[in-house]
Amino acid sequence: MPSHLSRRCFLQAATTVTASSALNLRAATPPRQLKIAHTTQTHSICPYCAVGCSVVIHTLGDKARNVTPTVVHVEGDPDSPINRGTLCSKGIALKEFIVNDQRLTRPLYRAPGTAGWTPISWEQAVDRMARLIKQTRDRGFEENDSDGRLVNRLANVGLIGGCTDTNEINFLLSKFRFGVGILSYENQSRL
Ligand code: SF4
Repeated sequence: MPSHLSRRCFLQAATTVTASSALNLRAATPPRQLKIAHTTQTHSICPYCAVGCSVVIHTLGDKARNVTPTVVHVEGDPDSPINRGTLCSKGIALKEFIVNDQRLTRPLYRAPGTAGWTPISWEQAVDRMARLIKQTRDRGFEENDSDGRLVNRLANVGLIGGCTDTNEINFLLSKFRFGVGILSYENQSRL
């Protein structure tokens, strides 16, 4: 520090230079864009447990035919009276469940007496399931019980869900269940 410059003047000058540099830097650096800046928001419910926390799923992609939508963020829904925007450690990891290269995305078939699984088309899978369900239902459907009361029930088919079945899947399964008369139904959403 030059001898004619007081300590106070030196500090003032240094502060001015630093502030000016910071302002220049801020002007030169464009603001960082949030990863949810251009996303579509979808409201759903965490599938992991019966608490039923609401989530907002952020998806990139403008729904054009040549664009594959990508989930980039999942967060708690602040408007939910159940979780008020919060999620537990399982719920906050939902994005890794959705975007996961180990996720099964096509039907597999294991023929009787074999050990391996073969990929089949959705048409083949749906045809086969429909045929087998129809055959089983025709064998087990009861219109009336032993006292003649109308029951319309199917006791030889049961449904069981997994912990990652979504709210929408469980809704459709309930519709299906009541449609064909299935009595035995268990999943994690406590429907
Ligand atoms: S976020 Fe946690 S508490 Fe909420 S439904 Fe999911 S698993 Fe249950």
